[in-house]
Amino acid sequence: MVSHHWRQIVQRITVLGSTGSIGISTLDVMRRHPDRYVAYALCAHSQLDKLFEQCREFTPRFAVVRDAVLADQLAALCRSAGLATEVLYGVEALVEMSSAPEVDAVMAAIVGAAGLEPTLAAARAGKKVMLANKEVLVMAGELFMHAIKESGAQLLPVDSEHNAILQALPTDFSRGLEACGVQRILLTASGGPFREKALADLHQVTPEEACAHPNWVMGPKISVDSASMMNKGLEVIEAHWLFAAAPEKIQVVIHPQSVIHSAVAYNDGSVLAQMGNPDMRTPIAYALAYPERIASGVEALDLFKIARLDFYPPDFERFPCLALAYDALREGGTAPAILNAANEVAVAAFLDRKLAFINISRLIETVLTQLPGGPEGSLGDVLAADAEARLTAHQLIKKQFST
Ligand code: NAD
Ligand code: MG
Repeated sequence: MVSHHWRQIVQRITVLGSTGSIGISTLDVMRRHPDRYVAYALCAHSQLDKLFEQCREFTPRFAVVRDAVLADQLAALCRSAGLATEVLYGVEALVEMSSAPEVDAVMAAIVGAAGLEPTLAAARAGKKVMLANKEVLVMAGELFMHAIKESGAQLLPVDSEHNAILQALPTDFSRGLEACGVQRILLTASGGPFREKALADLHQVTPEEACAHPNWVMGPKISVDSASMMNKGLEVIEAHWLFAAAPEKIQVVIHPQSVIHSAVAYNDGSVLAQMGNPDMRTPIAYALAYPERIASGVEALDLFKIARLDFYPPDFERFPCLALAYDALREGGTAPAILNAANEVAVAAFLDRKLAFINISRLIETVLTQLPGGPEGSLGDVLAADAEARLTAHQLIKKQFST
């Protein structure tokens, strides 16, 4: 009998945001391959019951929560279950779990700016970084890509579109898209739950309607971003940094079935697309096992069941967030960080019923015109721009945009 075990080295994984939609899907893929992946640290914010359940199943060396009170509670639960998991809390712990020498790979699946510091720490420590947390690249793309290059870290996009683009590009794409014969990137978008709504009807939409995505089940923030199409805007910026693609080389294509996850058009007329059922376990499995392919639990695509695929250009008038993101990308510096921060405040206010849906884009646009922006510079510059944009957005909600 021949043993193949010598080929496989177990990877120790830190999951940032293990209790979220991406975190749960990540653990589901890991669960199918216990010989390949073990959990080093599971990190979440405040959903203790879920995190404790995960600790029982995956017996990580560490678990991280928001604060000391929650940490004590989780530690007591772990002790009573006879688990050796050590419980830590706060941003420093997230940074430590992302950069510890024992860690092979980090799944960056915290939502929003809160994921920036730990994900950057993973990049600086030369880890394999599986990036779902797109806000990191939007806020600090230059810094983050620089850290990846300096440390020799491996960056694998988990966002389905970018994962599809990675699959459709040659492996040596970092020598430049032009040199690889790439004409443009076709970034597909479902169009979200309001794809067919008239502008006038977008005034009344509720958080519940915004979160009812036709094809994907996701966390609340990215669901609202999909409804406003800011998600696609953030993804344009993400693609720019990941693939060194100029903004005019990235074309958004509305594709309501979410079967083609994105495509790359080449100079010879070829268009290479990646297709699959809309289930994040496919890009997660690809990132985990790259360049190998492993079972993810996702069924193969049944083309006869799908029967047809549709494509439309985006409507920048009904979805102004998309245009705002392109503008911020072209402006550069801290403009995308300001856009991202204003958007996070706007989405939270909309979910809280303090801001109308159509005012999400108006608020972001006003913040972008009021704040000058500057060079991206250091992490400190980015965090300062983020803080100032949040403050301005909160003030505007009180003064100008209150519902
Ligand atoms: P989610 O809201 O379901 O989960 C977020 C996770 O982050 C949770 O585990 C939460 O505990 C943790 N978290 C939140 N704030 C935190 C903080 N301050 N400190 C520590 N942990 C914190 O979100 P999601 O849908 O899983 O999305 C996560 C990221 O992946 C987002 O950036 C999103 O844009 C991106 N993404 C998600 C999908 C998807 O299908 N859900 C697809 C592509 C990209
Ligand atoms: Mg996506």
